[in-house]
Amino acid sequence: VIELVGMSKWYGNFQVLKDIDLTVYEGERIVVCGPSGSGKSTMIRCINQLEFHQEGDVIIHGKAYGKDEKQNDLIRRDIGMVFQSFNLFPHLSVLENCTMAQIWVKETPKAEAEAVAMHFLERVRIPEQAHKYPLQLSGGQQQRVAIARALCMNPKIMLFDEPTSALDPEMINEVLEAMIELAQSGMTMIVVTHEMNFARKVADRVIFMDQGEIVEQAPPHAFFDNPQYDRTQLFLSQIL
Ligand code: ATP
Ligand code: MG
Repeated sequence: VIELVGMSKWYGNFQVLKDIDLTVYEGERIVVCGPSGSGKSTMIRCINQLEFHQEGDVIIHGKAYGKDEKQNDLIRRDIGMVFQSFNLFPHLSVLENCTMAQIWVKETPKAEAEAVAMHFLERVRIPEQAHKYPLQLSGGQQQRVAIARALCMNPKIMLFDEPTSALDPEMINEVLEAMIELAQSGMTMIVVTHEMNFARKVADRVIFMDQGEIVEQAPPHAFFDNPQYDRTQLFLSQIL
C-alpha cells in the first residue's frame, strides 16, 4: 500500500534522504529506528507529503503524488499521523478536536461526527474526557486523543513519529497499549520509536536508518538477535 521508489530529498545542499526504496504491504506494522538526524521523521513525513521529496516516487495505494494538489489531497486522506508533541488544538475541546476535520474536510454532519469521535475516544479509553480541553489532560491522555482524532478520519495507514518520547514514563504504556490494539485490528502502521519492547511485540519488520539511508531491515527477532551491519550493532548496543 506504500511504495517509496528511489526517493531522495535535500535540504539545500544537504541530502537528508538517499535513494530510499521501501514497500509496505497492507496490514504490515513497521518500526523505524536509528540515530538522531538519520532522516526517520523526514521519511515518514514524505509519505503524507508534509515534506516534499525531490527525486523518485511516493506511491500510496497505487497512486503517486504529483503536481495535481487535489489528487494529492485525495491520496493523503487515507493517511493518519500522530506526532511526538500531540499537536492538538488547545482552544478546542477533546470532542471538537476529534470532529473538526470530519466536519470540514469530509463534510460529515455534526451529530454523526460526534458519534464517530465518541466511538474512537472509547477505543482509546478516555470517553469521559470528551468535554475537557487538551491542557486539562495528562500527556498520555492527550496523545490518546491525538490517536482517536486521527482514527476519526478512517485512515487506511497510520504514521507515528516518536509518539511516546515526550511522555513521562508512567504514561508511555497507556499510549503503547492503544497502539497495540490498533495493530491487532489490522491497521497498516509505520511507527518511528525507540520502544524496542513495542517493536518486538508488534512489528512485522524493523527498519534501521542511518545518515539518510535504510541500512537494514528484518523481522524483530532477526533484527535484535542477529543484526547484520556494524552500524546497526553499534546503535543497538547504545539503546538496549
Ligand atoms: P530525531 O531522532 O532527532 O527525530 P530524525 O531521524 O527524525 O531525528 P530528521 O528530523 O528526519 O531526523 O532530520 C534529518 C536531518 O535533516 C537532520 O540532520 C536535520 O538537521 C535535517 N533537517 C530536518 N529538518 C530540516 C529543515 N527543515 N531544514 C534543514 N534541515 C533539516
Ligand atoms: Mg524525528
